[in-house]
Amino acid sequence: MRLSAVLRWATGAALVLALPTAMAAERVQVVTSFSILADMVDNVGGEHVEATSLIGPDSDAHSYSPSPGDVRTLSHATLVVFNGLRFEGWMDRLLGTSGYQGTLVTATDGITPLMHDGHDHADDHAQGTADPHAWQDMARARTYVTNIRDGLIEADAEHEADYRANADRYLGQLDDADAEIRQQLGGVPADTAVITGHESFGYFADAYELRFLAPEGLSTATDPSAARIARLVDTIRGQHVQALFHENMTSPSAIIQLAEETGLPIAGTLYADALASEGEASSYIGMMRHNAKVLHQALADGQATAVTPD
Ligand SMILES: [Zn+2]
Repeated sequence: MRLSAVLRWATGAALVLALPTAMAAERVQVVTSFSILADMVDNVGGEHVEATSLIGPDSDAHSYSPSPGDVRTLSHATLVVFNGLRFEGWMDRLLGTSGYQGTLVTATDGITPLMHDGHDHADDHAQGTADPHAWQDMARARTYVTNIRDGLIEADAEHEADYRANADRYLGQLDDADAEIRQQLGGVPADTAVITGHESFGYFADAYELRFLAPEGLSTATDPSAARIARLVDTIRGQHVQALFHENMTSPSAIIQLAEETGLPIAGTLYADALASEGEASSYIGMMRHNAKVLHQALADGQATAVTPD
């Protein structure tokens, strides 16, 4: 082989090898606070973005505290998306520490929030604040998507047409899923109550006309005491409760204990603040469909189906 041929070959090989890295570097680096937002960013951003979530699937936003690694992750970002409404009580400090100067999207901007009198993700546990879990209503999730779309256009105007087309397609999928869920849960008797681990389903209950109880004491961080369990059993007996549910980021022991004490079935797992690592609930739309299906199966005929807890 002549030297020029070797050079040509070597240059060609180097180009082939370098290409994927170069393309990856050109993608818009988006950091989101939790997994549901990262899935929305993937849907709107498509091939132009790489989304990284600080809080991963099946992980609890309540007990989260940022690490030095998160500061480094933020320093490589060109777009940061977080929920707002004080869901991420740690966000301001993290942004300050990292010195992040890029585009910032508050996904709930423009949403009319429900007021919340239960748990609060912020440090001060104030009552009467806005409920941050607005993604649990797919109509409000439309606002998340348009805010993310506008943030991507601001950070990467070159691909505006793609972001608009992707967002329109995704909004159509949200509308379809919302209509299906509405129909599926329409038949659930109005006085049926569902007990979950923490108060994350206010928007879901409001949108699909269900009643959720998240009794005080069933927090995600701690297991309730025996006295608390006894009070919870009284609460459950005083209500028309049909079923108990696990939550993917909640300690299962409290719900299992309540099931034993009340004889109520545990009818499955609901996803509130985090996607599943795999399976049907590993996307936002899949998670909403999964929750509706599990609730429908347990409640539709007023007769809960027993499912052995895992
Ligand atoms: Zn929560």
